[in-house]
Amino acid sequence: MAEVNKHESDRNLDLVLAEFRNYQEGILPAGPGARSLTEFFASIDEKLEPTAASAPKIQRSDRNVLNLLTKRAKTLHIGPANFCWFTDPSQALCLKLAGTPSADRPLAGMCDSARCPQATHHPCHRPVWAEHAERTRTFLGDLGKTRKTEPARLQNDYDRALRIVAEIDAATLDQLDEDSA
Ligand code: SF4
Repeated sequence: MAEVNKHESDRNLDLVLAEFRNYQEGILPAGPGARSLTEFFASIDEKLEPTAASAPKIQRSDRNVLNLLTKRAKTLHIGPANFCWFTDPSQALCLKLAGTPSADRPLAGMCDSARCPQATHHPCHRPVWAEHAERTRTFLGDLGKTRKTEPARLQNDYDRALRIVAEIDAATLDQLDEDSA
């Protein structure tokens, strides 16, 4: 068990570090929790700045950065289509929906990452959402005329998946546009 926990915390740290490096490159998170995560990364970036204007620019090693990211990494839960930053149980939409607002873990099975303030979407999640949109579009096209409720539900699902893909692209492509300019 200890080994599994160690493996999980190492993996989480690696993921947070990768997203922090993305942030430094201008590739931002998307989703309802994006602003909070971006502000956190900005606060870490500030700590890495040289304190005096005359001080040489210090290239911090990954180890130094990891020390600053460790606490946040402990809140990370990995969903199939989003990252969940479980910093505050009272903000967790899944717990509200389940009626267990003080639980100490998120309920991945009830995750609604498009609406939860602790959820972020990143380029690694794009294929999942793009595939979901495509599959939902096919279902919509196959629905018989007698079905009354499914079309609206599927249309909402389809619109949500497309919106998430567009948000991920917008947060990523700004940087790609700059690179190609
Ligand atoms: S709804 Fe999803 S992102 Fe929000 S706390 Fe629950 S599992 Fe995490």
